[in-house]
Amino acid sequence: MVIVLETDNPLVREYFGKMIGKEGMKIMENIPAGEITDDEIAKLSDSKLTTVRKVLYVLYDNRIAEYRTERDDNTGWITYWWSFNNENIKKMMGEVADVKLNGLREKLEYERNGEFYRCQCQRILFEDAAEKEFWCDECESNFEYFDNKKLIKSLEKKIKETEKWKKKIRKE
Ligand SMILES: [Zn+2]
Repeated sequence: MVIVLETDNPLVREYFGKMIGKEGMKIMENIPAGEITDDEIAKLSDSKLTTVRKVLYVLYDNRIAEYRTERDDNTGWITYWWSFNNENIKKMMGEVADVKLNGLREKLEYERNGEFYRCQCQRILFEDAAEKEFWCDECESNFEYFDNKKLIKSLEKKIKETEKWKKKIRKE
């Protein structure tokens, strides 16, 4: 498998899922390190050659996959030897981790600084609930205090996990 592309990591799944889809992920999972032909990749992942090529060119456009060509002097046949740029994958995943961390930290700050109230249909800040006299017209129920400790804890946990993963990427 391609070294840094841990397809069981949710961030990797999200990012590469958008880029190459499920089929592409399946193909990536089966790629060993080193040079390989598209034919071999297709066999390893039990996929159609045309699908493999499509995925490879998307990865090429994203500077993740590279290739060199080799021409057979007798047949004139050209073989494409594909390989993967782990430095670029690392850089890319580092950026993904940073974006994710920024988002998570912003959310955490928001949760830490606010006091929240909840009805049947939404969660709002204390100030807004007070303004509505703790009554939601939309679902016709009371706004009641919402304890966000669990939410804060889970955000803190996600931040720690993402930081850990980011460090791991750097080291590899
Ligand atoms: Zn409501």
